[in-house]
Amino acid sequence: MYSTETFLDRVYFPDDDNPDGCWIWAGSIDKDGYGRVGSKITAHRYSYALFRGRCRGLLVCHHCDTRSCVRPSHLFVGTIQDNVADCIRKGRQVKGEDVPTHKLTADEVRVMRKLAARGVARRALASLFGVRPDTVKTIVRRKAWRHI
Ligand SMILES: [Zn+2]
Repeated sequence: MYSTETFLDRVYFPDDDNPDGCWIWAGSIDKDGYGRVGSKITAHRYSYALFRGRCRGLLVCHHCDTRSCVRPSHLFVGTIQDNVADCIRKGRQVKGEDVPTHKLTADEVRVMRKLAARGVARRALASLFGVRPDTVKTIVRRKAWRHI
């Protein structure tokens, strides 16, 4: 399956003037408009698992209603038994927990710098990695994580 970098190579990022825009899957799209990673996994589900952790037994839904969007901050999970309203309510909770306490890994630092070099806005990187924009700045300028 895809590593984080390989996955992100298959994504169209939004322009700089739209830092909160959707990340559109550039790989295969199924008949319902969902991105696909292989025959069994949707791209947005794969993205959620990659960036935000386990989602087994849970439904991965879109805040943005763009089926081909794989941006982690546009995704949320609900249980399969939930109805749509409940799913949305849970999504808001997931969003509320999305506080900047995430500890970065060396891998994430590398990906963050690669994306920054491609012109992805600092604010977008901050929301993707769950850290403050200041943190992104120090990492991209190599004032933090200098050893990588
Ligand atoms: Zn989106």
